[in-house]
Amino acid sequence: MNTNKSEQLFEKAKNLFPGGVNSPVRAFGSVGGKPRFITKGKGSRVWDADGNEYIDFCASWGPLILGHANEKVENAIIAAVKEGTSFGAPTVQENELADLILSNHSYVERIRFVSSGTEAVMSAIRLARGYTGRDKLIKFEGCYHGHVDSLLVKAGSGLVTFGNSSSAGVPKSFVDETIVIALNDIEAVKDAFVMFKDEIAAIIIEPIPANNGLLLQDGKFLRALREICSDENALLIFDEVISGFRVGFEGATGLYDIKPDIITLGKIIGGGMPVGAFASSEKIMNSIAPLGPVYQAGTLSGNPVAMAAGKAAVEQLLEPGFYAELERKTKNLVSSVIEHIEHKEYKVKMFSIGSVYWIAFTERPSIRTSSEIDPESMNIYRKFYHSLLNNGFYIGPSGYEVGFVSAAHSDEEIAEAARIINLSLDVALNPG
Ligand SMILES: *Cc1c(COP(=O)(O)O)cnc(C)c1O
Repeated sequence: MNTNKSEQLFEKAKNLFPGGVNSPVRAFGSVGGKPRFITKGKGSRVWDADGNEYIDFCASWGPLILGHANEKVENAIIAAVKEGTSFGAPTVQENELADLILSNHSYVERIRFVSSGTEAVMSAIRLARGYTGRDKLIKFEGCYHGHVDSLLVKAGSGLVTFGNSSSAGVPKSFVDETIVIALNDIEAVKDAFVMFKDEIAAIIIEPIPANNGLLLQDGKFLRALREICSDENALLIFDEVISGFRVGFEGATGLYDIKPDIITLGKIIGGGMPVGAFASSEKIMNSIAPLGPVYQAGTLSGNPVAMAAGKAAVEQLLEPGFYAELERKTKNLVSSVIEHIEHKEYKVKMFSIGSVYWIAFTERPSIRTSSEIDPESMNIYRKFYHSLLNNGFYIGPSGYEVGFVSAAHSDEEIAEAARIINLSLDVALNPG
């Protein structure tokens, strides 16, 4: 595969952006090699600057559940742009997307749009703190919530701990408000509420943690979190930026039928444009400005072009059988790969839920916590990754990233993808 143009563009980019990128994982640091500059996407495929073609399972990190340049989304964006791109005043497009979501999502009553998942989470935790009058948060090791200061925190030692910042530039005083607990450890959550009685504003969790491998949780654990929050008058925040509209229209909330107090959304909700949102009950959302004391605002919030894209995307998700079809294709992909893994007796697992999958080089039957991921396995992942890429299969460049099946993947492409995964497993696991 010729990648000269991508390499030249990356050299140029390194003189423009730190590390040549505007979001760190894009730099290929964890798999090695040089990133591909993508110039075009259509349906399930992307093309790079050298004209190489890939079947895409990155889907822009999840938003493109309909594939690239979906015709209805594209037409909606063009029609909106022609009327002007931003007004800083209320628009009909905001009403339409909100109405579409709220009338088909039985767990929330009010929504507010922002421009990214990070902004949604940041606003949700301020809302939780303002509503409860408490400062502390519980988060789980292995869940990602964007680059919000007080959530860039990793576990320290001990079961119930204040974390250590996972980024320079986060004040210690912020970190001290965040309690970090291992996933699936309900006893530690209970201990935290004993130690910090009436101080904890909220528990935030990705109900389907999908940013650090795919750490599928037991529904019992999620239900226990709901009960504890209700008993302790703390709020439960489901960060559904990745799982929302992905595992069903009502996301993980609907899948597990657990009602969180606040849901954060992003990725799919913008149809490929920058949109995030947080949603809750009327009562809790009444705390937000201008009705209540919790300040939150945005110059480009509810941007009409982004809203039009979101509406055109989200309404297609309501078509009968949409999710069943996505799941059918994902199951085909997963079962073809698992069959190969079992036949070859590889120490590899493929986990999946809805249309999300993750391949782990492990002997464990399940992986529920981040500490169960073997960092050494990432060395094998590198070889696997480069074989995928060179055979025309694109996915986020890290062994901790999940893959996304989209409605644009045909059955033939799913079969081809399984063939490439299987041959790449052979390459990665059979040295020489
Ligand atoms: C992607 C993601 C975010 C951050 O969203 P950005 O749009 O990248 O700021 C937050 N939470 C979860 C669960 C995510 O997957």
